[in-house]
Amino acid sequence: MDRLFHKFLRARKIPSTACSGCGLGQVHKRVLLALERLDLGPDDVVWGTGIGCAGRQTFNTWRGDNFAGTHGRVYAIAAGLRVALGPGKKIVLTAGDGDAFGIGLKHLLNCARRNVDMTVVVADNLGYQSTGGQFGITTPRGSVTDSSPYGLNEPGWLGGGLDVLEILKAAGATYLARHLSLDGASSVESLVMALENPGFSLVHFIYPCVTHFGAVTLGERDKGKILGSFRAMFAGGGKGGPTDRDDGRGGETDGGGRKDPGPQAGSGPVSGDPAFRLKRGTYHDGRGLRPEFAASLIAWTKNVREGAGR
Ligand code: SF4
Repeated sequence: MDRLFHKFLRARKIPSTACSGCGLGQVHKRVLLALERLDLGPDDVVWGTGIGCAGRQTFNTWRGDNFAGTHGRVYAIAAGLRVALGPGKKIVLTAGDGDAFGIGLKHLLNCARRNVDMTVVVADNLGYQSTGGQFGITTPRGSVTDSSPYGLNEPGWLGGGLDVLEILKAAGATYLARHLSLDGASSVESLVMALENPGFSLVHFIYPCVTHFGAVTLGERDKGKILGSFRAMFAGGGKGGPTDRDDGRGGETDGGGRKDPGPQAGSGPVSGDPAFRLKRGTYHDGRGLRPEFAASLIAWTKNVREGAGR
């Protein structure tokens, strides 16, 4: 990390204020490795951040240009920047699960719909951890948290037949992937594909929060052990995608043929929610299949100005 730190990050922002053992640094490192693979440096990338743990720990760490968005709005700012900057600059955004899939989902969907060229890195700690460990939009059903002391009894975007990546795919996203923060080369590979895509890309990382989700929900503060639990809970590598997410453990079948085990009070997140059987790797690869928003807007505007659009 030393080499990456000197090359890409601001000395006064490192180390971050993340709790000791937090997996967020793993995610940040994967993105830096992907940028290095593509020979991109501080002058080539504008980096935006959301709020919460993911935003706070990565804000202004990038040695190049940075900006911070209000909760869930970093994508809207990035869409405007995309038009202003021209295609020579990459836009990388780091946001948490609430920022991306909760309050920010509508903005995210509209960027996917327009196929705006940006790489969204969702650093997902499975709940609202920066405010003390409340359940959020990706917290597995059955989880005991600060705000669900008897276990969470509602579906999130990652279980019970629901997957937020499927929604983003339907909205028009042209590259989607999912990983655990412990995934090394495979996650860097996904990030490289995301960064190369001239359109909307999102890579979803689930990482261990040792202080809240680990300690309270899993009863474990050790990052290695939490990651070991995550690895056991997730299906192995592979292509992922909607047809191979079914864990085949029974339960009611929804309209799409996927199984919802229903509430699992007191059973905990591991046995209670097929969210954790989701595959890791590329989820959807539609690179080059749709026009990029800013490029087509600029071309269209030029046509209008020259009278060709009438
Ligand atoms: S609260 Fe959890 S996610 Fe946030 S910095 Fe601490 S360990 Fe990481």
